[in-house]
Amino acid sequence: MEKLWVPSLPILGGRMLPLLRHCCAVGSHHPLTWRSIFQTLGREQKQIRSWSAQCSAYNEGASVSEKDNPHKKLALPDKSLLDARILYCTSPALGHNKEAHPESNKRVPAIVDALEKLELSPKHRGSQVLEIQNFNPACLDDVARVHSRSYITGLEKAMSKASEEGLIFIEGTGPTYATETTFQESLLSAGAGITLVDSVVAASKLGPNPPLGFALVRPPGHHAVPQGPMGFCVFGNIAVAARHAQHQHGLKRVMIIDFDVHHGNGTSDAFYDDPDIFFLSTHQFGSYPGTGKINQVGQGDGEGATLNLPLPGGAGDYAMRCAFDEVIAPSAQRFKPDIILVSAGYDAHALDPLAGLQFTTGTFYMLASSIKQLAKELCGGRCIFFLEGGYNLQSLSSSVADTFCAFLDEPSLAAQFDDPAMLFEEPTRKIKEAIEKAKGIHSL
Ligand SMILES: [Zn+2]
Repeated sequence: MEKLWVPSLPILGGRMLPLLRHCCAVGSHHPLTWRSIFQTLGREQKQIRSWSAQCSAYNEGASVSEKDNPHKKLALPDKSLLDARILYCTSPALGHNKEAHPESNKRVPAIVDALEKLELSPKHRGSQVLEIQNFNPACLDDVARVHSRSYITGLEKAMSKASEEGLIFIEGTGPTYATETTFQESLLSAGAGITLVDSVVAASKLGPNPPLGFALVRPPGHHAVPQGPMGFCVFGNIAVAARHAQHQHGLKRVMIIDFDVHHGNGTSDAFYDDPDIFFLSTHQFGSYPGTGKINQVGQGDGEGATLNLPLPGGAGDYAMRCAFDEVIAPSAQRFKPDIILVSAGYDAHALDPLAGLQFTTGTFYMLASSIKQLAKELCGGRCIFFLEGGYNLQSLSSSVADTFCAFLDEPSLAAQFDDPAMLFEEPTRKIKEAIEKAKGIHSL
C-alpha cells in the first residue's frame, strides 16, 4: 500500500482547505487540476505586466550577449571559468513563502549562511568559488520545452489572484502554494539552471576540469509535471536545464541522478519515452507521491532509460554506497552521458522531518564526490546540482556545505555534524534485495 505524505494541520490552515478538497477529489498522483483551479480562482483577473515584458526587462540587465541567441545570456570571462572550481547561483524566492510550510523561504538563506560560516563562500575562497549574480530568468520557450504553454500562461494569470489574496493553493497533494511573486521567482530559479549549464559547458571547452555547478534555488522542481505544479514544485528546473543542454549546446545524452528522498515523478514524466535522457531516481519506498516503482523503466523508445531504486525505510549510508557502486556508476558508464545533472534533495537525511531514510552529512559528501568523479570520467566534468528537498535547516545547510567540500576535493566536515548515536541499524537484507532486483531488471 502506498503512503502519501499527509500535511500537518498548520499547513492545512487558512484559505487552502476548500481548494485542497477540490484538488484531492480530482486525482491523487497527477491531479492536473489547472482547468479546475482557474475556474475556482475565476477568470476575471487582470493581466499583470506581461511575462515577455518581464523577461526583456531582466535581459536588459545582462552584461554580455551572444549574437545568435534569442535571449541575451550572461557570459563569464574565460579566466573566471578557468579559475573557478564551483559556480553557483542563488534564487531564494523570498516572496514565495507560507508560514509553517516546510518549503519555506528560510532554506536558501540558511545554506548561504552555512557557506559563509564554514568559509566556503566567495568572500573566503576568492576566484575558487564563484557566485553568478544578475542572471536571467528562464523565458517561455525554455520552460515550454518541458511544460505546456497553457500551464505557464495560466500560472502567470493566477498571480493577480495571488496578489489579491496574499496566497493561493495551486495543487493539493503537496500542497503547493503560490504568492504574487511565485511566477517570476520560479522563472528565475529555472533561469539559474540554464545559466549554470551555459557556464559549465563554456568552461568545459576551455579545459578538462570545469567547475561543478550548483543551483541553490527554490521552489524545487522535480515533482512538477508537464501539465502543472505538484509537491511544492512549480517548474521542473532540472528538466528545463536538460532540454536547454540538448537544444542550445548539442549535448544529446543527459543523465539525471535524483537522490531526493522522494521520487522525481515530474522529471520522470517529462522524459519517460525519451531514450536520450537517462533518469535514475533513488527514493524511499512508499513515500510521496507513491510513483517510482522498481519495474517502471520507461516506455517506447525510452524503455530502459528510466531506473527507479526504491529503498526501504531506514536505509542510509550503507545503502547509498552500495547503490552508487552497483547501480548508479554502472548505469552511467553504460549510458555514456554528455552531461550529468543531479536533483540534489537533502530530505533523505536522518534529521529531516518529512521522510524516514538515514543519510548523514557524510552520505551527501560521498555522493557529491563520487558523482563528480563519474562526470570527470564520462563527460568532461560537466555536472550541475539542483537543490530539491531538504527541510531541516541545520542538516540541509551542513549537507550542502559538505557537498561544496566534495566539489573542492577537500576533507568532509561531516564529523562536526553527524552523531552516530542518532542512527539505527539499516535493513541490509531488504537493501540488498532492492539493489539486486534493480540490477536484474536493468541487466547491470
Ligand atoms: Zn523530497
